[in-house]
Amino acid sequence: MDKIKENIQEILKDIKKYSPYPDKVKFIAVTKYVGIPEIEEILKNKVYNLGENRVQLLSEKYLYFKDKNIENINWNFIGNLQKNKVKYIAEFISLIHSVNKLSLAKEIDKRAGEWNKKIDILIEINIAGEESKEGYKIDDFNSEILEYLKFKNLNVIGLMTMAPYTKDEKILRDVFSTLKKIKDDLNKKYFDNRLTELSMGMSGDYKIALEEGATIIRIGTKIFK
Ligand SMILES: *Cc1c(COP(=O)(O)O)cnc(C)c1O
Repeated sequence: MDKIKENIQEILKDIKKYSPYPDKVKFIAVTKYVGIPEIEEILKNKVYNLGENRVQLLSEKYLYFKDKNIENINWNFIGNLQKNKVKYIAEFISLIHSVNKLSLAKEIDKRAGEWNKKIDILIEINIAGEESKEGYKIDDFNSEILEYLKFKNLNVIGLMTMAPYTKDEKILRDVFSTLKKIKDDLNKKYFDNRLTELSMGMSGDYKIALEEGATIIRIGTKIFK
């Protein structure tokens, strides 16, 4: 468990070192690989933004801490979300990073309305256009964008991407800087600067993502090894 503390401290230091605006950066501890003891250790280190990619496991972990009256956790959904499972997380989810279809957004809007709340979402963009990746191709998002401006119970607060699995720094940098450019364009054309978040960067590439303007990094593996 000492490792967890050391690794978190290193990540927090890297945010200061690599980000042009470190005060804006949120670090999401991705807990999908681990159980309750590791999560408790993360919370002890004052990291309260947690990320999960499976509805079932997320719900179990949420309930465990709710039963203990630990209420200060911000739960992030970072995986591929099936429409029919939105109802299980709508009550408590802080941010859904991975909206990649209009039908999914419609469902989130509907369920948020049932709880009388607004749910923050990010649009997942597939920059590299890899067929294997989830996420909108930018042209497909552009053709649906006006629909996103009509929702009552959804706040679109930014964009998310997953970089391709490579160590090639140039490719990674291109992906992250392209996402930033897309966000800036969308802000000018449609969102009146309401898109504030760029969720990009994982254990292997977060330093580059920070340099290119990430405001949210999602880190799992590095915390635990
Ligand atoms: C698992 C996962 C992460 C964390 O990846 P690591 O390489 O373990 O840091 C980040 N984002 C998403 C969408 C994930 O599924």
